[in-house]
Amino acid sequence: MRVLIAGAGLSGLSTAMFLGLHGVPSLVVERHATTSLHPKARGQFPHTMEALRLAGVDRRVLAASPPDFQFRIVIARSAAGPVFNEILVDDAGPDLTAFSTAGWANASQERVEPILAERARELGARIRFSTELESFTQDADGVTAVLHDLATGERETVRADYLVGADGHRSPIREALGIGQAGRGVLGTGSGAIFEADLSAVLPPNALVYLQNPELPGGSGALVSTDEPSRYAIGVGLGEYSDERWIELVRIAAGIPDLAVTLLQTGTSTDTKHWVADTFSSGRVHLVGDAVRVMPPTGAFGGNTAILDGFYLAWKLAMVVKGEAGPALLDSHTPERRPYSEFIAEQQYTFFVQRMRPDLADAALTPLVEPFSMPFFGYRHLSDAVVLEPGDDRALLEPEPTGRPGSRAPHVLVRVDGREVSTIELFGRGFVVLTGAQHWVDEASALGLTAHLLDGPEWAKAYGITESGAVLVRPDFFVAWRTPDATGDLPGALKSVTASAS
Ligand SMILES: Cc1cc2nc3c(=O)[nH]c(=O)nc-3n(C[C@H](O)[C@H](O)[C@H](O)COP(=O)(O)OP(=O)(O)OC[C@H]3O[C@@H](n4cnc5c(N)ncnc54)[C@H](O)[C@@H]3O)c2cc1C
Repeated sequence: MRVLIAGAGLSGLSTAMFLGLHGVPSLVVERHATTSLHPKARGQFPHTMEALRLAGVDRRVLAASPPDFQFRIVIARSAAGPVFNEILVDDAGPDLTAFSTAGWANASQERVEPILAERARELGARIRFSTELESFTQDADGVTAVLHDLATGERETVRADYLVGADGHRSPIREALGIGQAGRGVLGTGSGAIFEADLSAVLPPNALVYLQNPELPGGSGALVSTDEPSRYAIGVGLGEYSDERWIELVRIAAGIPDLAVTLLQTGTSTDTKHWVADTFSSGRVHLVGDAVRVMPPTGAFGGNTAILDGFYLAWKLAMVVKGEAGPALLDSHTPERRPYSEFIAEQQYTFFVQRMRPDLADAALTPLVEPFSMPFFGYRHLSDAVVLEPGDDRALLEPEPTGRPGSRAPHVLVRVDGREVSTIELFGRGFVVLTGAQHWVDEASALGLTAHLLDGPEWAKAYGITESGAVLVRPDFFVAWRTPDATGDLPGALKSVTASAS
């Protein structure tokens, strides 16, 4: 077996799906009997939708989103008000069309995981539920793992080239590897309940209310709609509450003293934490999702980054197991994903303080970055898997697309085969060359690369080159290398970024 994946959450299923897209079958083991039954992470950002479009599931995810979706996010004393701050008002998502042709979706994790699982299977993955990865060892040639079938009690030893730890925030794999974490630690512990009630007089169908209310335990909480009409989840400060007290807390949160409430589930407890793993790889084991990064849910990056981790790791794993890249390509996983994880965890912490815990605000609070698009599209992957240019300042973020190596390839509308498409839609299946000059097409083709000969100066300007230049784009839409003109060493660049010996 080439790749074994522990965990069938968003990150594990995404890794399996994108490995399948690149022609590499994998085995996913999941200790639970099914995918998540809890809606958890809701919402897919446009860059996540670009990746899902590549895998052919964007429409399925859109179809799983509530129709005519509009979302309202406010900070308020209760659902009935007063409102202290409007974060998103009856909006389907901020306008990011300057960066992508992909839009927003709003499916819940409960609905997205089965879609990813189905697609991963279509692309050759096997998924075994009720199966735990019990232990593993690694040597120079691969990983040996003991799988425990929780339904039958049987144990089986399997061998894989690589192991992906997509096993969530507790990550037994990370623990076994002795990988530490750094961050702000536990920020709070809360209790939750799910209930049904008619809140239509105070809330639109899809809403999230960050509650700042001294009547609630801990003085704050959250109230969020679910996919089911009239069904909501509430979270407040930690405590053991009777059903009567939960009904009282729901009424305080709703701001409706005589609200009729049907409790469906009570007593769940969650920690709000903030940390990033010290390293994302150890030998032949690579970690993704909550296994490497846990942050407050304020901002909805947890689910999106989990999906994108799989997208960013899978092409590298696939190229290495297929012999198209050297194993050192995988050394880029930590330097590319860890700095971004630290950045985004800090951004989510700032949201958390602003929305839920203003008492924690101090001078050390990291400001939210501007423009708004930067956390989505303006981050760079800086590692040996890109050819940085002389004088590159190695900045992690850039406010506007530049086309420089390490940054996301700019979205430009171009004509290809008589069709107008975004440049982003040209990428994903392998390394791709964009150029306005035939000799670069010939050179790319000789290397087995896909090349597009593009008309007009717009795309070249967006990529910071002339039409006689060329740009090499990785399968994850990031620029690997560019040359401004007819000169440059494309074979050398490809060899360098794929860590190839020849
Ligand atoms: C109540 C709640 C609400 C949330 N709300 C949001 C939100 O609104 N927005 C947002 O972006 N994020 C939210 N999150 C966070 C989001 O759900 C996570 O970031 C996301 O699920 C991470 O996906 P993952 O695949 O990395 O981990 P998980 O989804 O945790 O999946 C890990 C899987 O690994 C399995 N596993 C663990 N160990 C083993 C083993 N040894 N063998 C086999 N299987 C194993 C587990 O059973 C689990 O299914 C929320 C989380 C919770 C709990």
